[in-house]
Amino acid sequence: MHEIAIVKDIFKTLEQTYPETYENIDKITVQAGLLCNIQPILIQNAFEAFVLEETRFKETELEIELLPIIAHCSQCESQFEVRFHKFVCVCGQSSDQIVQGEELRISQVIFKD
Ligand SMILES: [Zn+2]
Repeated sequence: MHEIAIVKDIFKTLEQTYPETYENIDKITVQAGLLCNIQPILIQNAFEAFVLEETRFKETELEIELLPIIAHCSQCESQFEVRFHKFVCVCGQSSDQIVQGEELRISQVIFKD
């Protein structure tokens, strides 16, 4: 399942980044751009299934922050939010220069004292 793979990936990254303190993670915040098609509820379910097996993380909290899609308009050199898949700036110019919305990243890790 897609979401399980994402959760495992997150923990693998954390293990590599924080080999000493990996087991003391209290809270993880993950930012997901809307273009990633991430369903926070499905990630949470996958996360809960993961900690059932990895019980050392049973008190760890996961938060998913969805990031809007932002595109750049080369006509008026500004950025605009893409809503409902409408890649059109307020000036009327269409643009598919994505500056935000494709990322899936760990944005914050809080450790237990
Ligand atoms: Zn524009």
